[in-house]
Amino acid sequence: MARLLLVSNRLPVTVKAEKDAVSVGRSAGGLATGLSRPHERSGGLWIGWPGDVSRLTDAQRTQVEKQLSDLRCVPLYLSASEVSRFYEGYSNRVLWPLCHYMLDRVPRQDRDWDAYRKANERFADLAAKHYQPGDTIWVHDYQLMLVPGMLRKRLPQARIGYFHHIPFPSSEIFSTLPRRAELLEGLLGADLIGFHTVSYVRHFSGTLLRHLGLDTNIDRVLFQGREVRVGAFPMGIDSAAFESLAQEPAVLDEVKTLHGRAQGERLLVGIDRLDYTKGIPRRLLAVQRVLERDPSLRGRLRFIQVAVPSRTQVQAYAEYRETVDELVGRINGLYGTVHSTPVHYLYRSLNEKQLVSLYRGADVMLVTPVRDGMNLVAKEFCAARPDEDGVLVLSEFAGAAAEMRDALLVNPYDVEDMADAIEQALKMPQPERQARMRGLRAGVKARDVHWWVASFLDRLQGLPSQAEKPPLPDGMAALDTLKGLGRKVLFLDYDGTLVGFAPTPELAAPDAELMTLLQELCARPDLSVHIVSGRPRETLEAWFGELPVGLHAEHGLWSRMRRGQPWQALPGVSFEWKPKVKAVLDAFAARVTGSFVEEKTASLAWHYRKVDAEFGALQARELRLLLFEQFSQEPMHILPGDRVVEVRPKGVNKGRVVPEVLKQEGPDVRVLALGDDVTDEDLFAAVPPGGIAVHAGNKDTRAGYRVEGPPGVRQLLKGLLGK
Ligand code: UDP
Repeated sequence: MARLLLVSNRLPVTVKAEKDAVSVGRSAGGLATGLSRPHERSGGLWIGWPGDVSRLTDAQRTQVEKQLSDLRCVPLYLSASEVSRFYEGYSNRVLWPLCHYMLDRVPRQDRDWDAYRKANERFADLAAKHYQPGDTIWVHDYQLMLVPGMLRKRLPQARIGYFHHIPFPSSEIFSTLPRRAELLEGLLGADLIGFHTVSYVRHFSGTLLRHLGLDTNIDRVLFQGREVRVGAFPMGIDSAAFESLAQEPAVLDEVKTLHGRAQGERLLVGIDRLDYTKGIPRRLLAVQRVLERDPSLRGRLRFIQVAVPSRTQVQAYAEYRETVDELVGRINGLYGTVHSTPVHYLYRSLNEKQLVSLYRGADVMLVTPVRDGMNLVAKEFCAARPDEDGVLVLSEFAGAAAEMRDALLVNPYDVEDMADAIEQALKMPQPERQARMRGLRAGVKARDVHWWVASFLDRLQGLPSQAEKPPLPDGMAALDTLKGLGRKVLFLDYDGTLVGFAPTPELAAPDAELMTLLQELCARPDLSVHIVSGRPRETLEAWFGELPVGLHAEHGLWSRMRRGQPWQALPGVSFEWKPKVKAVLDAFAARVTGSFVEEKTASLAWHYRKVDAEFGALQARELRLLLFEQFSQEPMHILPGDRVVEVRPKGVNKGRVVPEVLKQEGPDVRVLALGDDVTDEDLFAAVPPGGIAVHAGNKDTRAGYRVEGPPGVRQLLKGLLGK
């Protein structure tokens, strides 16, 4: 088993000072429980902040270090300023509300960014320091989004996973972050990026496409020559522990006491950290509405709301607390009697026994966050109900709702809807309660925290390691290989290789710098230059007709070997499919605003570079599928390109140009081929032994070298000229 290096903002421990002594205890949280087994068994380390230890004496601090080390924990001490700017600042004031769709709670999107980046550097440094070859690194959560990328730079071969424990919002929201690209690139340092739900994966993929132009293919995306996987791994709880606690005599006694004190009142329960994402005010309003609507329920309902103090240093939390306090007071003032109080509000944390007793004793559990990455309380409630009773009212906007379809799902913004659900829950007949609870429990038990850890780690550790597939060397290194090797033939793709993409094909005309560069290359007696493009003959002729270069249009269908020679077509190519395919492409162009069809002698292309990136990619996928289904018997190929879907005749590809050119160039020449998209892979495949293929971009490629887009290509060509 590979050694596991866990990296999270907080270590799974609590440090307690008692006079001169100090004790370090394990936290009971779900993550700590789930990870403790692989952490111990693999002999791994857990790196993170042990909490505030500033008040400890030196002697106590030494004791803490010793106890942490016994627990295989490596402390990273945050300074007071890091706590306030990295943790409470960027993490909890910016990323937390933003990922929970609460833009108006973000003071300023780039506030404390510097502190965040620097703290992430410290985590990455410490993890890299403890890394040993063969380790698996697993980074956790939004406080450390830059760490995977920072680790990738330090440890290119490492196996790195990242899990995002909170929602990943729609790209519309994420886009408001000035540092969105850095954060995304930070995450892409990982080999596997996990989220709780398929929706978060979709949002993440959409954001990658929109801001980095990276198109995710189901569960993988190429970034800087590496394949990064993304996936949904819904986190579970230690369900066996909750189930067994719920059957302990002490808990059952406590449940009896609870029911006795309630004197026949039905019990509604809510348990949350006091966080503005948890929807406590609207939940209270829903309870108020129930009492308002049905007077017969007054004096017969008891809503126990536990609010665990949280992030008390952040102003927004203090204000939220006041709102909740006021609402509780108002409802109790309105509907309390001398004999009964509708809302029992506890601002404190509970011990395990008290918590499970509430789960076990509740008639209705109200879990109605306005947004929540997963919500474990919902799952714990079900695990604590071996009696198969109790009704779960669950917000649609909790990650848990994606799995827990047997709950009563509600819109937490719709107070009336929640009031309806509470009434429905109170009236629900026992057989229905049992059927729903059975379904819920089956899911909670099957996908517990151990399943979650194993499924993430199995996927991560099953991926081919970067050590087996090292990143491609930089194209500039190819220059050394080519130096002094005699005559060289250059095969250059045009769009995406010599020039970047423009909104329309006409706008991507060659610039002065490129023309000069090509002229200089042509002037060299030891070089011969061929441009191999998907463009029509007319365009290449107009742009490069005056240069002494070989021109190859429409992916090699047409060739003009030398200046002044006529264009010649490849023999034996069939075009009968063209009108039928054109009708389909035209229909797509009409339906997708901003897209258009380009017709060449042999091929057809549907371009969507001016369409919204996400929508365009989706439509392109649909078009390819449709073409494949309708025309699979035709002698044509369907080719996905960069924001284009091309259809061209079989038997025509850029690779066919190479042997034709080499026939004319004679023996003992070296080939250097440069290209960026899938059509250039045919070109690379045709490069004879001793030749060099360079991929300009981040895609999967058979080329032996890589450069970064057109600027990298130009730099390489200049290098060839000795510049
Ligand atoms: N919890 C706790 N002490 C309490 C009440 C709750 O430790 O007094 C635990 C609860 O058992 C659950 C966690 O806090 O495991 C809350 O997790 P959840 O996913 O519901 O919300 P989060 O706090 O992570 O936003």
